[in-house]
Amino acid sequence: MKVPRYNYAAQFDGCLGVLAERLRGMLEEGRYILSPEVESFEVEFARYLGCRYVRGVNSGTDALVLTLRSLGIGRGDEVITQANTFYATVAAIRLVGAVPVLVDADPETFLIAEDDVEPALSPATRALLPVHLYGKPTPMARLLVLAERHGIAVVEDAAQAHGAMIDGRRVGTFGAAACFSFHPSKNLAAAGDGGAVATDDAGLAEILCEQRSLGQRSQNDHRIVAFNSRLDAIQAEVLRAKLPRLDAWNRRRAELARLYRARLEGQELTFQRLDPGETHVFHLFQIAAPRRDDLLEHLRRSEIDAVVRYPLPIHLQPAFADCGWRSGQFPVAERLARSMLCLPLRPDMNEAEIDYVADRVHAFYRG
Ligand SMILES: *Cc1c(COP(=O)(O)O)cnc(C)c1O
Repeated sequence: MKVPRYNYAAQFDGCLGVLAERLRGMLEEGRYILSPEVESFEVEFARYLGCRYVRGVNSGTDALVLTLRSLGIGRGDEVITQANTFYATVAAIRLVGAVPVLVDADPETFLIAEDDVEPALSPATRALLPVHLYGKPTPMARLLVLAERHGIAVVEDAAQAHGAMIDGRRVGTFGAAACFSFHPSKNLAAAGDGGAVATDDAGLAEILCEQRSLGQRSQNDHRIVAFNSRLDAIQAEVLRAKLPRLDAWNRRRAELARLYRARLEGQELTFQRLDPGETHVFHLFQIAAPRRDDLLEHLRRSEIDAVVRYPLPIHLQPAFADCGWRSGQFPVAERLARSMLCLPLRPDMNEAEIDYVADRVHAFYRG
């Protein structure tokens, strides 16, 4: 049996005909840039999240960069995030000229270690940038109180958590702004690159329009020096076709994750902790496993598309060598990077695939 990580055909099941017809109209009529389709997606995604504004941009990375720029964060400012995130979170902080300040990961939630955030604050701190990693919502209550008390912004990196909730409230609605990616690997996937920023702040939403579109308020009226980074109209229409199915997909992901945990019982594996009140959307199904590298090779030989997300924590990435971090500084992030393995999880997966993967894991540890 082959167990792939993605099945794009399944994501279009039952809607490809209508979508293709809509795309044909857009292609023929030249509705390419910030077309009504982009606006419709922004309205629909804002309604889905429960926030006032969504602004579509070119990627999740750009969503982060443009948000930080729109908040006026740049040279001399510090932004706190975690050592075990994806490269883009920290690259975005550097790209606006600010200084990333890292906090270690929590060994049970695999999220930012809440207790370590306050000690990381300094007079230069301008924002907290927690990541809802692997689809698990970061508990926001304490971070929001801390940010409020120190007069700094909270920006959510929600690139892996479309639809995740805390007590029925979507992630992406807690901070001053939240950044989403629609990279083809994400729970809500475009057919290429795409991203968005969600916010309730009308002023911020307006600045974001300038930041994504050559600094323009209207054509040829350039107010600021800015990028050209807009959500592509074709991608917006693809996303509109998929958005109504997102909740069902996320529920199926959670169901399959439960099944994995049940089937994998009996091995010394660590799973990301589940907490009451949260709706985890399992962007990735992660296990921390003894002899990880050998297990990975064993699974890949069995045609199971397992991968490591992410093999090197942020503070050890060559790109950030000039930040002055050292090996051993964030021991939990390092331990997780050495032991974590991501098993395939797709909403269209069936129980037989889960059983097969679990069988192969058990076979590996039996030797
Ligand atoms: C995917 C991702 C990003 C970047 O999104 P792109 O669309 O690939 O630029 C940022 N942060 C996290 C946590 C991600 O997983």
